[in-house]
Amino acid sequence: MILTEVKALVIRTTDLSESDRLIRLYSDKLGVLSAYANNSRSLKSRYMAAAQLFCYGNYVLYRKGDKYWVREVELENNFFGLRSSISKTALASYFCDVLSEAGTTDPDVSLLRLILNSLYALEHDLAPEHKIKAAFEMRCAASLGFMPDLSGCSECGQDEGELYLDVLGGVCTCRDCREYAASVRQEGTVITEGEEARRPILILSPGVRAALRYVMECPIERIFSFRVSDEDEVALAVSAEQYLLHHLGRGFDTLKFYKQVSD
Ligand SMILES: [Zn+2]
Repeated sequence: MILTEVKALVIRTTDLSESDRLIRLYSDKLGVLSAYANNSRSLKSRYMAAAQLFCYGNYVLYRKGDKYWVREVELENNFFGLRSSISKTALASYFCDVLSEAGTTDPDVSLLRLILNSLYALEHDLAPEHKIKAAFEMRCAASLGFMPDLSGCSECGQDEGELYLDVLGGVCTCRDCREYAASVRQEGTVITEGEEARRPILILSPGVRAALRYVMECPIERIFSFRVSDEDEVALAVSAEQYLLHHLGRGFDTLKFYKQVSD
């Protein structure tokens, strides 16, 4: 019998029968893993409280082959306050889905800290939901290895005014360099218009760019302490979301649901 002890957050639950449940964990030592929580749905179960979505604690797992069973749990936080609001529950579920999709068996403690901080901030209203969401998305993309260079135009170094971010390339260009590149292309290069049109571009104002850089580079405990003007608020939300979703190559039902129930 092999026992492993991990700090982990429950990011998905699947009921298997009247009493058994499969839980998906994001853990500090094993990354994403699934574990059976037998009898977890019985009222008498010691595990019941810790086999719910958003539960975080110390999980002792029993491993046999490539399967895990929950043996003991010491619950540290269940983020119960999230359940007081449909939009908070929906947004927290989207964060869990993102880690479930992006996480691997390669552990990344920075992502675990990011989601724990985000759930805590949501639960305790430390920042508006749209700010928590944008910060989570952009920091998550950066942690996954998709940190864009937002310092200035990659061609001429211009760092003022609006810049055009090539989402998949992770670099910015200024208007002049972009227009110059388009004029060169018209004279005949290998890039066709169709290929260019399929490359997603985000137009970033100086304010949005500063906010995105801040949430990627700041100490994690200060991630929600940024200011963004009212006029940049929507653009920041769209930019962070589009940037992450393009890199993950998919959308999420929980995100669609969040948009239906928020505001
Ligand atoms: Zn330029």
